[in-house]
Amino acid sequence: MNSMITIASNYIDPKKRGGEYNLTFHTIPHEKVYSRLSDDPIPHPATGSIKIAATSEEIPDPTSFGEDGDQVRLVVQIQESPSTKTKEVFITKGYVRDDGGWRESPLQVIHVSGELHSRLDGLIETDILSDQSVFFVGFGSVGSTIVRFLVQSGVKRFHIMDHDRIELCNIARHEARLRDVGRLKVDFAEEDIRQKNPEAEVHTWPVKSDEKNLELCRRLIRENTLTICTADSRTCRDLTNYNLIKEGKTGIFAGCRRRAYGGMVMIVRSGRPPCYNCYTHTLPDEAKDREIANAEAAEEIQYSDRPVPIEPGLSLDIDPISQFTGKLALQELLRNKPTTLRSLDEDLSDPLYFWYNRRENGEDSERFQPLSADPDDVHILRWIPVQFDPNPHCPTCGDYLAYMKKIYGLNP
Ligand SMILES: [Zn+2]
Repeated sequence: MNSMITIASNYIDPKKRGGEYNLTFHTIPHEKVYSRLSDDPIPHPATGSIKIAATSEEIPDPTSFGEDGDQVRLVVQIQESPSTKTKEVFITKGYVRDDGGWRESPLQVIHVSGELHSRLDGLIETDILSDQSVFFVGFGSVGSTIVRFLVQSGVKRFHIMDHDRIELCNIARHEARLRDVGRLKVDFAEEDIRQKNPEAEVHTWPVKSDEKNLELCRRLIRENTLTICTADSRTCRDLTNYNLIKEGKTGIFAGCRRRAYGGMVMIVRSGRPPCYNCYTHTLPDEAKDREIANAEAAEEIQYSDRPVPIEPGLSLDIDPISQFTGKLALQELLRNKPTTLRSLDEDLSDPLYFWYNRRENGEDSERFQPLSADPDDVHILRWIPVQFDPNPHCPTCGDYLAYMKKIYGLNP
């Protein structure tokens, strides 16, 4: 079976010319694949040695250096470039242990920071995005996918808050895998992000975004460019909304309806009305129609001693919500910056968006026309922008006291 060795150029140290050093590689068991691209924990380590040959030296044989347990050996010879005399040229050879001997293997030397996002050039402004930071309230199935979209687009600074651990039942919908069951979701988040970009800055908060952590959440909302709240808990959403209004910051709320037959995405821009509380007041039925994806969400809407069944939706039906939220988030992160995406501002100017994956009995979507019918009508599998006015008496962003005085004839 062919092997492959991949190493980031920063692990080759030309100053050790004439010497050698050890380096641990990550390996995929039984696949003869070895790599070392970041300093993150290595689940399947393989020991290796690197020999930096002197310029005049012959390229050394892999049996002439290293340690007994090595599975990988690399030889690097540094030569001056014959053309410019200014640049050094690396001649590298890689070997893997095979049947007790050493077999030469294909070897790639990669400049990670230069190549990671090089293919996004011209598509998105990765330099601008690398300075922006995003605070995630909740890292469930919706949140984990949005994080992946953002890190792959070039966002490098994240704060992730979630108190839950990954359970087996999450795996079908979450970015996490079987081996992650039992881990705190925020610990998985950090590893997942850094596996996509080792230069990313990830801060994790394994706590619930409730009233006990109100001041912490408020500081994080203040200090980050954008907040994305995908938490199921109404308390988390209300308090996030409250902090956004108090700090004048932008936040996006995203969630699914029952068994993910549809979903909603709402943006509160610069802490100005309409806010999430205006939405729950103006469209209370829509706001209540939420996916019951876990025990906590079931408990929150339970109104008798009869348990509410947990009925989460398909990953396939959740992804449109995550994807739209990711797009809306990027648009906000690039706000007021010159970008090829500026024209999308007009498409994404509304505060609220609905999506329907299928017609649901007893709901408005039951009456939706087929997708090919009147294009001006509302349909399944198509984003529906919703305009609604701020509630002037909203307890969070409006003047609730004026409202109370008016309806009850109270004097100031
Ligand atoms: Zn409001």
